[in-house]
Amino acid sequence: MKFIEPSFEIDNKGRTMCKNHTYYQFFKISNKTIYEEKQLEKILTCKACEHYYNNNCYFPKREIDLIERDRQKERIKCVLCGNRIHRLLTIVQSLYYEAKFNVKVPPICCDCHLSLNDQSFMKRTMLRLVLFMISFLISISLIFYFFITLLSSSIFIIFGLIFFIFWFSTSIKDIKKIFYLREGRKYYKKFISQSNGKK
Ligand SMILES: [Zn+2]
Repeated sequence: MKFIEPSFEIDNKGRTMCKNHTYYQFFKISNKTIYEEKQLEKILTCKACEHYYNNNCYFPKREIDLIERDRQKERIKCVLCGNRIHRLLTIVQSLYYEAKFNVKVPPICCDCHLSLNDQSFMKRTMLRLVLFMISFLISISLIFYFFITLLSSSIFIIFGLIFFIFWFSTSIKDIKKIFYLREGRKYYKKFISQSNGKK
């Protein structure tokens, strides 16, 4: 059986598309209506492609299912911001280049793609870093306030505990975001900034 080799391109919204996808011609229609854009969001995945159903893509159906499962469980994240990769094709492209040409193309989410295109990546991530740090500092100061209140009055214990759980989960998220953004900015400086024409 002849297998279909995928071939990729990235549109002006940072979305990875496969030129051999069953609906590629539809993807390429310019000036889509809102309804058509919604349709595109649904079918811009290997899982809507005939080659997936016929199991004659370079990537076997089973492998695509596993990649999609990993994507949904957020085991594969954007290398620049740590966010979930929203499109299966982004990851498939990355795996294809590595398997076929031994070239590492790390998965990058659509938002980061856009910010690389208009060279606003460092500015945007700095803004997000500052916001996450502010959020983290606010939660730290609130927890201090609550513990002081808790010491002075026992009826606040229940509220204090509920708040503590809330604070803990928010802070962990903020810390993770700060970590991923810092790593992404380091990655950008090391591998992308020169080729992107701006440090
Ligand atoms: Zn990203």
